[in-house]
Amino acid sequence: MFQKILIANRGEIACRVIDSCRRMGVATVAVFSDADRGARHVAMADEAVHLGGPAPADSYLKGDAIIAAAKATGAQAIHPGYGFLSENPDFVDAVEAAGLVFIGPSAKAIRAMGLKDAAKALMEKAGVPVVPGYHGSNQDPAYLAEQAGKIGYPVLIKAVAGGGGKGMRQVNDPKDFADALVSAQSEAKNAFGNPDVLIEKYILQPRHIEVQVFGDGHRAVHLFERDCSLQRRHQKVIEEAPAPGMTPEIRKIMGAAATRAAEAIGYKGAGTIEFIVDGSNGLREDGFWFMEMNTRLQVEHPVTEAITGVDLVEWQLRVASGEPLPARQEDLHIHGHAFEARLYAEDVPAGFLPATGMLAHLQFPDHARIETGVRQGDTISPWYDPMIAKIVTHGPTRAIALRELEAALVDTEVAGSVTNLDFLIALTRHQGFRDGEVDTGLIGRDLDALVAASEPDPRTRALGVIGLAGLDKPDTKGGMTLWQPLRRTITWDGGQAVLEVLGPGAARVTLDDGTPREVCWRGDRWWVDQALRRHRIVSHPAGVSVFGGRAVHLTPLDPLDRDSGAGGNQALTLSPMPGLVKSVHVEAGQAVKAGDRLAVLEAMKMEHSLTAARDGVVAEVLARAGDQVEAGAPLIRLEEEETVA
Ligand code: ADP
Ligand code: ADP
Ligand code: MG
Repeated sequence: MFQKILIANRGEIACRVIDSCRRMGVATVAVFSDADRGARHVAMADEAVHLGGPAPADSYLKGDAIIAAAKATGAQAIHPGYGFLSENPDFVDAVEAAGLVFIGPSAKAIRAMGLKDAAKALMEKAGVPVVPGYHGSNQDPAYLAEQAGKIGYPVLIKAVAGGGGKGMRQVNDPKDFADALVSAQSEAKNAFGNPDVLIEKYILQPRHIEVQVFGDGHRAVHLFERDCSLQRRHQKVIEEAPAPGMTPEIRKIMGAAATRAAEAIGYKGAGTIEFIVDGSNGLREDGFWFMEMNTRLQVEHPVTEAITGVDLVEWQLRVASGEPLPARQEDLHIHGHAFEARLYAEDVPAGFLPATGMLAHLQFPDHARIETGVRQGDTISPWYDPMIAKIVTHGPTRAIALRELEAALVDTEVAGSVTNLDFLIALTRHQGFRDGEVDTGLIGRDLDALVAASEPDPRTRALGVIGLAGLDKPDTKGGMTLWQPLRRTITWDGGQAVLEVLGPGAARVTLDDGTPREVCWRGDRWWVDQALRRHRIVSHPAGVSVFGGRAVHLTPLDPLDRDSGAGGNQALTLSPMPGLVKSVHVEAGQAVKAGDRLAVLEAMKMEHSLTAARDGVVAEVLARAGDQVEAGAPLIRLEEEETVA
């Protein structure tokens, strides 16, 4: 076994790898960019090496600097995580040329699977069913249109170099083919530097079922399947294992096909064979087709670990250090059911735009497995994937594991950035999902209901007012009579309420809607209007949050801020990073509410929604669509608020 390895990644996956290394007694070297100096993965590792600027090209993609760091620290091997350099065969060659071990497959295997067209041709030869379509080299538009006609509509145009759902276009009608082809090719050229496409039959009612494989360069085993059908725009949202409706017979056939695929390329390490499955009529022997292979550890690998009891990172290290496969196929079994939800800092109502922010409060339940790269007080920066955590639950049955996922999400507390938490909770309550009727169209069909920005319950807000008044502390909760004055106005950005103390542990809160609500602290619980509220009031540097259902966040108005003329920076929306102003959504004189989208900034090839920090009226728009702006550049200014005593 290695004595020391370097982890060429960041975030949750770097932390995940360090966890296994610690358990195995392997020392770890982290690498970091300027943006990650204080990051969790750096704090967890035994040593850390600075790479460069925050942009991936200046840090996590600098193969030479990473190899030099490994040499300098005496690391014997490099774990690439996922993303970044994990599927770059030239990096693998360079690592090996430097006399180090790459913890993953050979450069040759990565090359064989790197382009979807070549991979499909290879799989066809190995006797693995592939999605019917054209994956040849002729890229003449007329020829491709003719192939699409032969395949039969609807078809899917896919970038051969694609990944992350990019460069893909569904075409339902031959008259739209030419335009879709041009746009798929240009997106592919931009994102991957390769405009080539293939054409596939679009499978109706598709399910995404993938098989975890593991090889030692000669033999391979599979660790069963994961269902990743819960997707939004071809991106996975919640994954589970095993797949609902899977039978032992079909599992055996799909597992054998996946193992055959891995052995056909002499695969070493962890990999995933992704299949598209026709879900219109149950799972059938002739109803699944190879889509692509991901030659790395997959984001959703923990669900497989949960049902098999295998530590896949441990296996990766053991096989990379020369040990044979740690188990035979007949040693591997499925225990129960597991789910993973991807918690992101993103603005769901604004179209799932990535968000940024300082995590003023962050607490996870202890009844779920949490994979995270951030701690309370850390910042979700605009430079990388805005993932906050993966929340993984495991139970004896699917229904129990799903209830546990729902409970774990409800018990997750995040303040300081918007998140997709409410959306994930809504998904766990979706009837079709609960019934196991999953397909990749589920989220899209019910998006409006799942996203419904229903106003938080005013009773939850009333609890927030108690928190703002500072009456939720252990020493004051029971004795509301101590509070002075007995009647006062509590103000926050976005509203105000009247609070009247009624007696020990009882108060009346009247919100803007004019309805008085009685809040009591009895039997170690909060009650509103005689109804038990299982909510938790939390004060943190950004204000007060009430968790335990649809969360409420209240930010107090700082009177010093408001008097300071500069608007206490709540009046000014600054560009959080250098980027291109994609669009501006407000004009001078327009009234806005806290959370409203003011502008969209494009940076790091992602769009970021910039929202109003408080209610107000736009005084000035300082940037126009198309402007290139620096970090900290003022974009929108709100009018100063009238000071209300
Ligand atoms: P999976 O099927 O495992 O989700 P994809 O093929 O969708 O994998 O691509 C891998 C994902 O990992 C991409 O969404 C990419 O943006 C993301 N990614 C890449 N590097 C990192 C990283 N260091 N931290 C978090 N996410 C990353
Ligand atoms: P990427 O490299 O971007 O992950 P994939 O080929 O794995 O690309 O496809 C991503 C997603 O697109 C799949 O998970 C599935 O939801 C959808 N998809 C891909 N191919 C088909 C197809 N032939 N029919 C229907 N949906 C498909
Ligand atoms: Mg894929």
